[in-house]
Amino acid sequence: MDTATGELAAAAAGQVATIYACGITPYDATHIGHAATFIAWDLLVRAWRDAGHEVRYVQNVTDVDDPLLERASRDGEDWRVLADREIARYRSDMEALRLVPPVHLVGAVEALPDIEQFTTLLGDRGALYDLDGDVYFSRACDDAFGSVSGLGRAAMEVLSAERGGDPGRPGKKDPLDALVWLAARPGEPSWDAPFGPGRPGWHVECAAIATRYLGPLFDVQAGGTDLVFPHHEMSASHARVALGDTTPVFARRYAHAGMVRLDGEKMSKSLGNLVFVSALLAEGTDPMAVRLAILAHRYRHDWDWTQPGLEAAVQRLARWRAAVSIASAGSSDSVPPGESVLAAVREHLADDLDAPGAIAVVDRWSDTVLAAVPATVPATAVPATAVPATAVPATAGGATTATGTTATAETSTTSAARLVRDTVDALLGIAL
Ligand code: ZN
Repeated sequence: MDTATGELAAAAAGQVATIYACGITPYDATHIGHAATFIAWDLLVRAWRDAGHEVRYVQNVTDVDDPLLERASRDGEDWRVLADREIARYRSDMEALRLVPPVHLVGAVEALPDIEQFTTLLGDRGALYDLDGDVYFSRACDDAFGSVSGLGRAAMEVLSAERGGDPGRPGKKDPLDALVWLAARPGEPSWDAPFGPGRPGWHVECAAIATRYLGPLFDVQAGGTDLVFPHHEMSASHARVALGDTTPVFARRYAHAGMVRLDGEKMSKSLGNLVFVSALLAEGTDPMAVRLAILAHRYRHDWDWTQPGLEAAVQRLARWRAAVSIASAGSSDSVPPGESVLAAVREHLADDLDAPGAIAVVDRWSDTVLAAVPATVPATAVPATAVPATAVPATAGGATTATGTTATAETSTTSAARLVRDTVDALLGIAL
């Protein structure tokens, strides 16, 4: 769903589908909220690939920013060492959860030349001003400011203050004006630039990286709902002013993922209630169960991470694995065709990434398979774990009639099992 219009819209305009997803600030481990957000975009990437699109997926890493520098300073650690460690952990978490990696994962530090060039364009348009050495973007230069969030000024000022902005700073032309270049502070890293030594603001970082790697106009800008304002509003506004001479620029669509709560509270570092992916995996939780627990919720809604939710995903994963294994061995008297599962999963994902709907399709197939296992076959009850194919007699699924009939039945159930397994693997990212 496109946040800017509030309507469902085709995500890709052409054969090449392009998405920019705002990435992490690498000062702590990846939590379930991050994972849920990136899994949403992973579903989109998988659906695009399945539909035959060539996908260009770009994500940034804000590897120099206040929270990172504050954490490094608190712990007496070099900020670069902290960032490198957390980026490595993030990559490893995402790999375990089977996310298709972006084509470009771009750090702010490595993108400094692009950010400088982009900021210079803003200066050329007369959109920047100096305040005690810091450089601000004047939102008054953009007539379309507000078109992403649709918020009024009062709401914008509240959110700006809550989310890293400084609406109360004296001397600004407009409280909503955003910092694009922060002058060097003692003890903090800085880089030389035409605007003086310093480091970039967050919104200009994403505007510069997105347009550098995807061009001035791309399909989807993606992030959590907490990025709608000011982050995505500002990035789009920067791009319009810097690049928008003629045609529309920046994202055609804005996709936002809901927040994940724990016990009814939004997961956040300030509340100290984060559930980390790496901690779950270290406890021995199957990463596919973590992914399934997330997929049980619509991406754009807020939802609660719970232990029963994870346990339900563990059970579901076991049932799916058992059903595929039993169907593959020809050990069930009822194995619905895989084609209908593939078609229905595709249909649900095309409906604004309806993962819960897609999961229900696989549930129904699995239930049918498991309900029709003859009593003579082991593990006919609801399985707690997957049943290895070798545990099932090779002839169990065949009728006692002609050998030819038996072979045909086994072939069709085996191919149905394979298609369901491949559908779940390719479209939902779950390895069975
Ligand atoms: Zn961003």
